[in-house]
Amino acid sequence: MVITTKDLQRLFALIAEDISAQRGHLCELDGAIGDGDHGLAMDAGCEAAAKAVAALDPAQAAPTTAFNTAAKAFLNAVGASSGPLYATAFMRAGAAVKDRPELGDEEFLRAFAAMAQGIEERGKAEPGEKTMVDAWRPAADAALEAWASGASLRECFDLAERAARLGCEATRDMTAAKGRASRLGDRVIGHIDPGAASAAIVIASITNFVRGADG
Ligand code: ADP
Ligand code: MG
Repeated sequence: MVITTKDLQRLFALIAEDISAQRGHLCELDGAIGDGDHGLAMDAGCEAAAKAVAALDPAQAAPTTAFNTAAKAFLNAVGASSGPLYATAFMRAGAAVKDRPELGDEEFLRAFAAMAQGIEERGKAEPGEKTMVDAWRPAADAALEAWASGASLRECFDLAERAARLGCEATRDMTAAKGRASRLGDRVIGHIDPGAASAAIVIASITNFVRGADG
């Protein structure tokens, strides 16, 4: 499969659509253990990213430019902590595909893994700390492991989507070591982390994109 800037325009539009549909739900999750704005933040960020990427001329802009453009737009649109985290994710994806006019399967997978790595490094969070890393890390690992054992891109993302969903569910039983929720101690047990929930949505959107592009 070959992924062009035009495809990435479609990908960012898909993500924005899916996040927008879950905006209220994400705000509710954040209302329980944070300040209730996570749906608004992700919606604003994804919408801004999709718009900025859509405005690029795909004949002129390489995939790296699409990711970097998304990063800037997301950062400018979001004041909450998810802003710099996703901006870093998209910057790292851009760096991972630097100088490539279009992306093959492996390059797209590397860009995806770079997003997880970027979020982890920017937030200095490890799995188990009740953050979006609990969805991103297992998803990236599942995809990379499957790829190493010869799976197709589609299979890799099917596994990534599942790992993200399970990782998100697992945050329910955790206390938080990072972010606002870390001030609430045991009171956050029983609640899913909003950032892990939005991460699972974004990863599911990427998976649907891969499924669609795969025919
Ligand atoms: P804010 O907490 O500033 O209102 P958001 O509501 O947009 O920001 O995002 C909250 C989410 O951000 C949390 O649910 C968590 O998943 C994620 N998060 C917070 N701090 C970190 C961190 N240091 N590393 C990774 N993710 C984090
Ligand atoms: Mg919040």
